[in-house]
Amino acid sequence: MIYIERRFCTGCRLCKKECPSDAIKIINYKAYIDYSKCSECYRCVYVCPSSAIKRKTSTKASKTQLKKDLSNIGDKVKEIKSSLDKIEKR
Ligand code: SF4
Ligand code: SF4
Repeated sequence: MIYIERRFCTGCRLCKKECPSDAIKIINYKAYIDYSKCSECYRCVYVCPSSAIKRKTSTKASKTQLKKDLSNIGDKVKEIKSSLDKIEKR
């Protein structure tokens, strides 16, 4: 989910040009999102020069992602150790 902090929006239209879903309208030099069209590709977030477009993540989604990341740490550490072992044997 994204949202626009309109006080930062300058109405430059870059987000509208970048949006592949035609989900952004500029009204009175401010951007508005049509959530029924938005595919959450986040292109507008990265293109906005004013950092006016933000990603909103729910606490539940953040917790789920964090648990997923933590469960993968063990495997990553093993991968790194294995790579280091290979380098040391050379
Ligand atoms: S790119 Fe940012 S500043 Fe420009 S119109 Fe869109 S939200 Fe506003
Ligand atoms: S997240 Fe993607 S689809 Fe949604 S408004 Fe931004 S550019 Fe358009």
